[in-house]
Parts: sequence; C-alpha cells; structure tokens
Amino acid sequence: MSLAAKTAVVTGSTSGIGLAVARAFAKEGCNVLINGFGEAAAIEKERASIEKEFGVKAIYDGADMTKPEEIAAMIAHAEKDFGSVDILVNNAGIQFVSPIEEFPIEKWNQIIAINLSSAFHAMRAAIPGMKARKWGRIINTASAHSLVASPFKSAYVSAKHGIAGLTKTAALELATFGVTVNCISPGYVWTPLVEKQIPDTMKARNMTREQVMHDVLLAAQPTKQFVTVDQVAALAVFLSTDAASQITGANISMDGGWTAE
Ligand code: NAD
Repeated sequence: MSLAAKTAVVTGSTSGIGLAVARAFAKEGCNVLINGFGEAAAIEKERASIEKEFGVKAIYDGADMTKPEEIAAMIAHAEKDFGSVDILVNNAGIQFVSPIEEFPIEKWNQIIAINLSSAFHAMRAAIPGMKARKWGRIINTASAHSLVASPFKSAYVSAKHGIAGLTKTAALELATFGVTVNCISPGYVWTPLVEKQIPDTMKARNMTREQVMHDVLLAAQPTKQFVTVDQVAALAVFLSTDAASQITGANISMDGGWTAE
C-alpha cells in the first residue's frame, strides 16, 4: 500500500529530526501537519516549500506540547483539514543537563510534559480515528536514553524510558486494529538539540567544547559518527509501510552500536 494521500502529524517538526521526518513523509506523498516553535516567517517558508517541492498539502499547528488541550486541538485540526490522522510521530523534545539536587523543578515538569506526556495526549486523541479506519502508525522518537542512562539527564532519561513503556502498552492495545506503535531510539544525531546541550555539559563536567564532542557525545557511539536526521526519517517511513506491519511494540535502536556495549 502506498503512503500517498495519507496524513502524517509530526510533533516538533520545525527543526532537526522532526523536520526531516515531515519532509520524508511529504516526499512519499503524505499530507503533513508540522508543529513546533520558531520564527513565524521561517516556519511559513518551510511549510510552503514542502507543498511546492512534494506536491502535497502541508499545514502548521503551533500547539504547545505542554498543553493537553492544544494537543487534542492539533489532532482535530489535521482530521478536519485532511479527513484523518493516519501516521502520528511523537517527536517533540527538549533536554536539560544538571545534577539531580540542582535540577530545577520546573525543568523536570517541562521535560516530562514535552518528552513523555505529550505523546500520551496526542495518541489519546488520534487513536479513535485510527481504530475506526483499522489502519494507523504511531512512531515515537525515543532515544538511546530509553535503554541506558547518562549522569545529569534525570528528567530526559526518565521521560525516554517512559515513552518506551508507553509504546509497548499502546502496541498491545492496538494490535488487532491494524495500528502499529513503535519507537525509534537514536544515539547522538547532529541537530540543534545536541548543539545546545554542549555549553551546559561543558559547565557540568568542566570540559572544553572539543572534549564534550569527543569524550562525552561520540565517546558512547562506537562508530564515532553522528546519526543523521535523514537516517531517522527513513526508518520512520519504513515503519509506516506494509512491510513493517508486523513490527509493533519495538524499540529500534539507531545508535552506532552505543547500547550494544
Ligand atoms: P530540535 O531541538 O532540533 O527539535 C525539537 C523540536 O521540538 C523543535 O521543532 C521544537 O520547536 C519542538 N518543541 C520544543 N518544545 C516544544 C513544545 N513545548 N511544543 C511544541 N514543540 C516543541 O531537537 P531534535 O534533536 O530534532 O530532537 C527531536 C527528538 O529527537 C526529541 O524527542 C529528542 O529527545 C530526540 N532525540 C534526539 C537526539 C539527538 O541526538 N538530537 C537523540 C535521540 C533522541
């Protein structure tokens, strides 16, 4: 079955992995809803270029992933404009690096809301339509940190372990409805999120930028290379094909061998 004319909602798709995922689904002929923060003119430029380049419809919804009612409204927006939400990619995420005893409580709450609870709210809103149509794909962007921990990333590691559990639960609930639920667990992907955490890690570990890059980030990745956003996007597209219809409840690593150690 072709993905053409299906609808993909990708949260956190104004940048990084999400943007590459949205563009990859558009390339397959899917109408896409993009979401995330950023400068209005830059987002509009990206939205319009997706439509022009791939000949699909692209809409933008600025729902804040910390707000359950805005998340539900975003799913309703896609269902109203496109008639369905066939593919949901829960991808929005942020990072904050600090020892637990100094970790700001509001940062903990924000990371749990964006990196974990938002996926629950989006799934809760999108599942009834998927069940009724007996077809759906839910793909959660987890992380190698859904399988292993690193110091100073308590909220992120907790949220990502949580999303792996939510993925399994939803996969079991939807197994007989033609809806698969999986998560992708990248290692370090070169995106603004990685770039932004370098200064905090430098401070937390008293290291230079170069030391953080080589001794912290790529230290964990045996291939010594960053994953690319296009590689993650290609896996998300594959998980949406018929060839992947028996892959459900899986946590698929794309981490250059990190979690094999
Ligand atoms: P990024 O910073 O480039 O993109 C994050 C996206 O989320 C942006 O579009 C941003 O606007 C959006 N966002 C942030 N807060 C939001 C909110 N409250 N509401 C709506 N949107 C919001 O980061 P990225 O590296 O592309 O990360 C995407 C996902 O991949 C995250 O879940 C992250 O944890 C995961 N991940 C990233 C890496 C990596 O190395 N970059 C590795 C493993 C997993």
